Amino acid sequence: MEISALYACFLECQGVTTDSRNCPAGSLFIALKGASFDGNRFAAQALAQGCRYAVVDNPEYAGTDSRILLVDDCLKTLQQLANYHRRKLGTRIIGITGTNGKTTTKELVSAVLKQKYNLLYTQGNLNNHIGVPLTLLRLTSEHELAVVEMGANHPGEIKALVHIAEPDYGIITNVGKAHLEGFGSFEGVIRTKGELYDYLRGKDDSVVFLHHENPYLNGIAQGLACIRYGQTPGLFVSGQLTGCSPFLAFDWTAAGETHSVQTHLIGSYNLDNALAAAAIGTYFGVSAAQVCQALADYVPQNNRSQLVDTGRNRLIVDAYNANPTSMMAALQNFRQLEAPHKVVILGDMKELGPGSVEEHRKVVGFLDECGFERVLLVGGEFAAATSRYEHFADVDAAIAALEAHRPEGCFILVKGSNSMKLSRIPEHL
Ligand code: ATP
Ligand code: MG
Repeated sequence: MEISALYACFLECQGVTTDSRNCPAGSLFIALKGASFDGNRFAAQALAQGCRYAVVDNPEYAGTDSRILLVDDCLKTLQQLANYHRRKLGTRIIGITGTNGKTTTKELVSAVLKQKYNLLYTQGNLNNHIGVPLTLLRLTSEHELAVVEMGANHPGEIKALVHIAEPDYGIITNVGKAHLEGFGSFEGVIRTKGELYDYLRGKDDSVVFLHHENPYLNGIAQGLACIRYGQTPGLFVSGQLTGCSPFLAFDWTAAGETHSVQTHLIGSYNLDNALAAAAIGTYFGVSAAQVCQALADYVPQNNRSQLVDTGRNRLIVDAYNANPTSMMAALQNFRQLEAPHKVVILGDMKELGPGSVEEHRKVVGFLDECGFERVLLVGGEFAAATSRYEHFADVDAAIAALEAHRPEGCFILVKGSNSMKLSRIPEHL
């Protein structure tokens, strides 16, 4: 089926779904395949539940129902449809990638831009080869701007995403050590994130928002129109940390005027994310007062550097994501916070490839310097790196130990890769 014909069907629909358990009336169902499921098998069910059309790529499921649309490859079709729609609407798009801080930056940028624009932005963390097209397919002619998060674990993935989203503006939050298994090396990480810059370099009137003090990003930004933010005075937006106990407070300056913001964000590393949002907001004409208000009001969710008071203890829960860069940033931040009894509970950092144990050793080396009152480590990578601290094979074992020897009146950092399931720990503290 031609993409233009499919697009006509899409325009008759209210939204797109790829999940047969969630089929809003009038939507377009696209049958994707996963490791353990084949969406083709659910096409008829999706129609029965109220979908207007179902796109399949296996002729066996095409049947005679004119509402079933047969294509060669559903995933490619989803991506092509998203790109076709994006081109038809011509909405200006800001693409966000980077090793750490993509979602936080996306949320902060969106909070700021919403003050002035009818804005579409990525929901949650839907930043991959399926999430990016689904985000674009939510665009309507009412939207004036869009903010699209793009994630990658392998070389070439950002290139594929930028060719679907065709952003006009871009920001790489930072580059760090993550998914080294997929990228092969740190250079692989830089090259892959740089695929966003490569795309923008070839596009007229494109603009990049550049973290001025990041040497890696400066190294790959030649030939691009750059709006700079960072801590160096005189940039388009420059800023300084003014407090972090534990919530981040900062001053930022644009066009010679300085403003103060008290945020609900934990972690000094969020200064960069907040300055990025201030720079993008200012660039798009959001007033300084509105930028300040949006950044002050934003409250993080989903286990991303959340402060939790359990009554017995105070926690920083950062159980959604961990890699060497974000782990060190979290520990450095936690180390400098003032509190009498500090405890850290860390889970393995996943997908680091052959250098994994060495990266875990570096974290242990830093823990040795910090001298926290109690350290609990969870997972096989930490076990291979050290035997110095309390160690547990999995989160259940750690929970049992915490139940047996309960912390009271402590300030506790909980951080690990999502798959370590440390998000289950807070209810036991
Ligand atoms: P994912 O790859 O899972 O989509 P992400 O890039 O969207 O992650 P966030 O979800 O915003 O990142 O943040 C995840 C964690 O990364 C935070 O909780 C924090 O520990 C760390 N982090 C956030 N911003 C930075 C930063 N600028 N520098 C270093 N670490 C950061
Ligand atoms: Mg994210």
